[in-house]
Amino acid sequence: MSTHAARLPGGFARRRRDAHLRAILDAAMDAVVTIDHRGLVLEFNRAAEEMFGYRREEVLGRELAGLVVPERLRAAHRAALRRWTEHGPGPGAGTLLGRRVQVEAQRADGSVFPAELALLRVDVPGPPLFTASIRDLSERKTADEQLREADFRYRTLVEQLPLVSYVNRPDDPVSRPFYVSPQLEGLLGYSPEEWLATPGLFERSLHEEDRERVLAEKRAAYERREAHRTEYRMRTADGRVVWVEDQSVHVQPPGGGPGFRRGFALDITERKATEDALRRAELRYRTLVEQLPLAIYIDRLDETSSNVYTSPQIEAMLGYSVQEWAENPDLFVELLHPEDRERVLAAHRRTHATGEPLHLEYRLRRRDGRWVWVQDQARVVAEGGESFLQGYLLDVTARREAEEQLRHQALHDPLTGLANRALFVDRLEHALVVGRAHGREAGVLFVDLDDFKRVNDTVGHHVGDAVLCAVGARLVESLPASSTVARVGGDEFAVLVEDDDAPAAAVDAAERVVEALKAPVQVEGREVFVTASVGIAAGAEVDELLRSADVAMYRAKSGGKAQYIVYGEAMDEELADRFQLVSDLRRARFDRELAVLYQPIVDLGKGTFVGAEALVRWRHPTRGLLSPAEFIALAEETGAIVEIGRRVLEDACRQVAAWRRAAPGERPFVSVNVSVRQLWGGGFEAAVAEALERYALEPEALMLEVTESVLARRREEVADTLAALARRGVRIALDDFGTGYSSLSQLQDLPVDVVKIDRSFIRALAREPSRIAFVRAIVDLAAALDLALVAEGIEGLAEASLLRGLGCALGQGFYFSEPIPGPRLLELAAGGDP
Ligand code: C2E
Ligand code: MG
Ligand code: MG
Repeated sequence: MSTHAARLPGGFARRRRDAHLRAILDAAMDAVVTIDHRGLVLEFNRAAEEMFGYRREEVLGRELAGLVVPERLRAAHRAALRRWTEHGPGPGAGTLLGRRVQVEAQRADGSVFPAELALLRVDVPGPPLFTASIRDLSERKTADEQLREADFRYRTLVEQLPLVSYVNRPDDPVSRPFYVSPQLEGLLGYSPEEWLATPGLFERSLHEEDRERVLAEKRAAYERREAHRTEYRMRTADGRVVWVEDQSVHVQPPGGGPGFRRGFALDITERKATEDALRRAELRYRTLVEQLPLAIYIDRLDETSSNVYTSPQIEAMLGYSVQEWAENPDLFVELLHPEDRERVLAAHRRTHATGEPLHLEYRLRRRDGRWVWVQDQARVVAEGGESFLQGYLLDVTARREAEEQLRHQALHDPLTGLANRALFVDRLEHALVVGRAHGREAGVLFVDLDDFKRVNDTVGHHVGDAVLCAVGARLVESLPASSTVARVGGDEFAVLVEDDDAPAAAVDAAERVVEALKAPVQVEGREVFVTASVGIAAGAEVDELLRSADVAMYRAKSGGKAQYIVYGEAMDEELADRFQLVSDLRRARFDRELAVLYQPIVDLGKGTFVGAEALVRWRHPTRGLLSPAEFIALAEETGAIVEIGRRVLEDACRQVAAWRRAAPGERPFVSVNVSVRQLWGGGFEAAVAEALERYALEPEALMLEVTESVLARRREEVADTLAALARRGVRIALDDFGTGYSSLSQLQDLPVDVVKIDRSFIRALAREPSRIAFVRAIVDLAAALDLALVAEGIEGLAEASLLRGLGCALGQGFYFSEPIPGPRLLELAAGGDP
C-alpha cells in the first residue's frame, strides 16, 4: 500500500494525513485547542466544542483568550503567551508548559468552570504554536472535599434515622466506640460525648438479667467477624428500662486498613410491650381454654383439614393424646360411630363448602371402646387470607343417657319395665294406621287383676309389687312376640294384638292370659293366687277400642271375675246405667227412699225364731225397689254407705226393741250388716252406743256382721273399733265365711262370736257330699273356738235337716222366710211359727 501511495501526487498524501489527524483529535476525550503565537485559534476539536459551547468554524482564526479565558484572567493570559513566544522554553515559561495546571475557563454562555490544562509549545519553523489539552473539572472534587462532603451527607442522614448508629472498634464490644449517633440521647439519656468519654457505660447500661448473655453473644460475634442481631433491655440514665434491638456487622474497608464494627440500636420497647401483652393474653386464653370442660380445636379449611390446634382435654374425653391426633389425621373418621359417620362427614363437607356454622351431636369411640356422645359446634373464621374452622367438642354422654332414660321412663312402667299407657296408645295408633292400609283391625285386651287390693293388703305392698312384676312377665311369656304388653294402671294391664283376624287372635290371647294365671305366682317363698278379669275389643279406632275393652273388662269383673268377656254393644247401656245410679245415689233422699227388711234367724233344732238380719232396700224413685247387690258397692264407692248404715242401724234397733217388748222371754236379737267404710274414722262406736241407749237395749240385742275383707285396709283401726264394740257386749258375726281368703289365724284378729256360713256352701249341700265335709270342718272349728254358727241360704228341708244333723245350731233362708218388713216379724216374735 505504501508503494502505491508513493506514486500518488504529494498533495493527496498530505490531505490524507490531515484527515487522519482530525479523526484522532475528534476522538479525544479532552478538549484539544491549538493557537498560534498571537493566540489565534488554529484547531478546536469536538470535545472542545462540547466543553465550551462553540462550533469549530466559528472560533477558527479568532483569539482564544477572548473566547474561553474569564475576563479577569485575560490580561495575564496574553502576557504569558507573549512571554512563552519570546523566550521559548525557559525559566519563565517552564513552570507552565508541559505540565498540568488548574485554571478557570469560561463557556460560550459566560459560565466559569474549573479545568485542568496541559500546554505544549510546538516548535515549528517560525513563531511557535501552542496546543492545550483541557479537562473539565467541574464534576471532580478533591478527595478531601469529597470525603468531607460525603461524611456530612451520611452523618445528617444517619442522624435523622429513628435509631442509634454506632461505629465500634472491630474486636471489643465494650471498648470506647469510634462514633455513636446523637439519637443515643433520646434512647438512653446520654449525650454521645458523655458516652464516648465514660468507659464501661455500655456495659453498665445493660439490664442485669441480659448483661451476661449480650456481652457473651457480642464478644463471640466480634471475634468471628460475624453479623449479629439480638434484643435486650437497657437502663436509661434516669433508670427506666428500654428494650433494644441491636444489629451490627464487621466492615473491612476495600482499600485495606483496620476494619470496624458498624451497627445500630433500635428502640423496641413499645413493640415488646405489645408482644408481651399479646403473649399474656394468649396465655390467659390458652389456660382458660385448656381448663374448659371441653376440647377446643382449630382446623385449617384446606383440602386436608389439617389441624392447627387441639386442646389437651381431648385426651380425657377420648383417651387419645393431642400428639396421637396430630400423628394420625384419619383418627377422627376412624372413631366415628358407623351410624353417625355419613351424617357427620356430610355436615363437615357442607361447612367447608358454604362456611355455615356446624352444630352436631354424634358418637365417637373412646380408647376403652365405650361410645362417647359429643356435641360438635364450630364456625368458620377468616384470618389473614386463610379460613379456619374453630370449634369445640363437648362430652354430652351423661345428658344423652339421661335423655334416653327419660324417654324410656316416659314410655315405660318403672316397676315392670313394660310399656306404659302412653307407649301403648302410641303403638295402638301406629298399628291402626298400618292396619288401615290393609283393611285390618287391631285387638285390645284389658286385663284387671281380681281383688288385687286384698293381695296387697294381706301380703304387703312390697310383695304386691313383686306379684305385679311376675304377672307382667307371665303375660309377656304367654303371648306372641308380636303383641305389646303394657301396664296401664295399678293392677291393670293392656295387650295389643295385631293380626289379620284381630277378634279371633284377641280371644286366643285372652285364653292364654287366663291360662297363664292359673298357676300360683311364687314370690319371696310364698304362693299367691291371682286371677284376672279380661275385657276384649277389636276395632279400627283408638278411643273406641280402649273404651270398649274397658267396658268389657268391667263386665267380666261384675259378672264374677276370673274370666274374659268380649265387648258387646249392650254393655254400653249397662255402663251408662251405672253412672246414672251413682248420680242418683248422690241425690237420694234416704229418709224416704230406704226400706229395711228383716229375715228371721231360726233355731234349727227347735224351729223357733231367735233373731233377724236387717237387709236394706232402696226404693228408687223411677226404678222401683233395688236390692243391695245393685247399689251397696256403689254406695261404698261414693261414701253414701255411711248414712245408709246409720239409718239401717237406727231402724234395726227400733225394731228389735219392739220385738223384745212383744216377747220378753225370747230375747230376740237383730243382726246388722256393716261395711268397712263405716268402721273408719271413729264415729261408729259412738253411733252404736247412742242407738242402744235410745231404745234402752242391752248390747247383746245387737249383732254386727262384717266380712273378713274389712281387715284388708286400715286393719288396726278396724280391729280396734270392733274390739271396742265387742267389749261393750255387742256381738260380732263373720259373714259369708268360706268365700274369701280366710285362714284360721285371721280370725284371731277379730273378736268374732258368730260365723255365718256362706250360702254357696249350703245351696249345694244336699247334692255335693264334699260340701258336707267342709261344713263339718267348720262346725268342728266353731266348736273348738267356741263360736256360734249360722247357716245362710237354707232353701229346703233337706239342707235344714242336714245342717241340724251336722250340729249347726242356727240358720236362715227362704225355707223359713224371705226378708220381710219389721212389723210382720212382730207376729213371729209374739209366738208365730215361721
Ligand atoms: P248377706 O249379709 O249375706 O245377706 C243375706 C243375703 O242372702 C240377703 O240378700 C238375703 O235376701 C239372701 N238370702 C237369704 N236367704 C236366702 C235363700 O234361701 N236363698 C237365696 N238365694 N238368698 C237368700 P240381700 O238382702 O239381697 O242382701 C245381699 C247382701 O247385701 C247381704 O248379704 C249383705 O252383705 C248386703 N247388705 C244387705 N243389707 C245391708 C246393709 O244394711 N248394710 C250393708 N252394709 N250391707 C247390706
Ligand atoms: Mg249378712
Ligand atoms: Mg251372708
